Amino acid sequence: MDKKKQDIEQSLADKLFYRKKNYFEEADDKEIEKCYAFAEDYKKFIDISKTERETCQNAVEIAVKAGFKEFKFGDKLKVGDKRYYVNRNKSVAIFKIGKNNLEEHGIKILGAHIDSPRIDLKQNPMYEDSGFCFFKTHYYGGIKKYQWTTIPLALHGTIIKKDGSSVNVSIGEDENDPIFYINDLLPHLGQEQMMNNGYKIITGEQLNLVIGGKAYNDKKVKDKIKLNILAILNEKYGVLEEDFLSSELCAVPAFKSRDIGFDRAFIGAYGHDDKSCAYPALRAIIDAKTNDTVLTLLVDKEEIGSEGNTGMKSRIYEDLMDEICESLKCLPRKVRAKSKCLSADVTSCFDPNFPNVYEKMNASLISCGTSINKFTGSGGKSSANDASAEFMSEVRKIFLDNNIIYQTSELGKVDLGGGGTIAKYVAELNIDTIDIGVPVISMHAPYELISKGDLYSTYKAFCSFIS
Ligand code: MN
Ligand code: MN
Repeated sequence: MDKKKQDIEQSLADKLFYRKKNYFEEADDKEIEKCYAFAEDYKKFIDISKTERETCQNAVEIAVKAGFKEFKFGDKLKVGDKRYYVNRNKSVAIFKIGKNNLEEHGIKILGAHIDSPRIDLKQNPMYEDSGFCFFKTHYYGGIKKYQWTTIPLALHGTIIKKDGSSVNVSIGEDENDPIFYINDLLPHLGQEQMMNNGYKIITGEQLNLVIGGKAYNDKKVKDKIKLNILAILNEKYGVLEEDFLSSELCAVPAFKSRDIGFDRAFIGAYGHDDKSCAYPALRAIIDAKTNDTVLTLLVDKEEIGSEGNTGMKSRIYEDLMDEICESLKCLPRKVRAKSKCLSADVTSCFDPNFPNVYEKMNASLISCGTSINKFTGSGGKSSANDASAEFMSEVRKIFLDNNIIYQTSELGKVDLGGGGTIAKYVAELNIDTIDIGVPVISMHAPYELISKGDLYSTYKAFCSFIS
């Protein structure tokens, strides 16, 4: 084939073919500088936001610094108001009232979750055995249990005492703090254990947290180590063993976030799912200039099915939107019908070490930008929010107009599994909703990996959507 004909075919291919773009190939030095700076802000946030309570508190702190004020049901709202509403210390709604007519423009919503998989304590957790004292645990969210052994764990949470007063616990984050630990078997004696399938390598009842081993100096007492630890806890927090009954304590990885790779392209951290979407959603509502009314929802309990009164299934979010509408003399159902939502949650990422579970044409590729999942669910799209082609096109146009690096994906091969997000619960309110977020490697592991390019393009995507 002659050179000229080849060139014509190449330009036709360039025109007609769709190819994903890689963020780092497209971005210039100045853009990458901004991207890496955003990643530093994110790392600071995620290191102090390991539980939903902490994330909620830190999000409020950032919002308050940006001029947002607390909202109470019954408050009168007006154009320009910047408010936040905290739901039971575990979820928060942050919103700005724009000058555009609500019934015509609706509310632009960014919804992310702020709970992450972890190891919760049981209500009656403490026991002593063979020189150790342990906490019994009950894991939270979908984890590979064996990954949570033999790593440094920190203890976070709240204990409510008999008199109703509460103490916050955070041990294991400071360099000088002790950490906690889950035992695993030495390989020398692991032959039988390793014959098990992955679910049974470590069982739920083996996820016991080592909390100490020093005896109380009194020959007559039975559980000397347990007594010694209770004495320490009583001195430090004023709590009794019975107070665990009304506590929420969880073990989370004690790691700090770190850059990964010689070029620092990636970030390793606990809880990218879903803080890598929650933080951009928070920053976007603070940073973006817009005439629309916008709302960032940071919700709890996604990892266990969005249940309860702090998860997305709770009526509180609908009530809040109704309240905003009524305060502005608009009909809630009219406003909801015009509202649009990005359900901001992480998605799986093609991993060349495990190519068999992905269908590469429709998998997220690392660093190819924020990733849209038109639908989620499993099997025949069961339990999916399947966004319409019309809404997909609307979002696509916004991203094209704003030079956002984005891609589309589905979780993995059709028959291999699946998952859900908060999207379908928002969509139920008659709101156009689509899933979008950062692709994650080793999702739900104690230490997950994301690309800085994907994180930053997610932030830019959120800003352009609400602007
Ligand atoms: Mn998630
Ligand atoms: Mn998850």
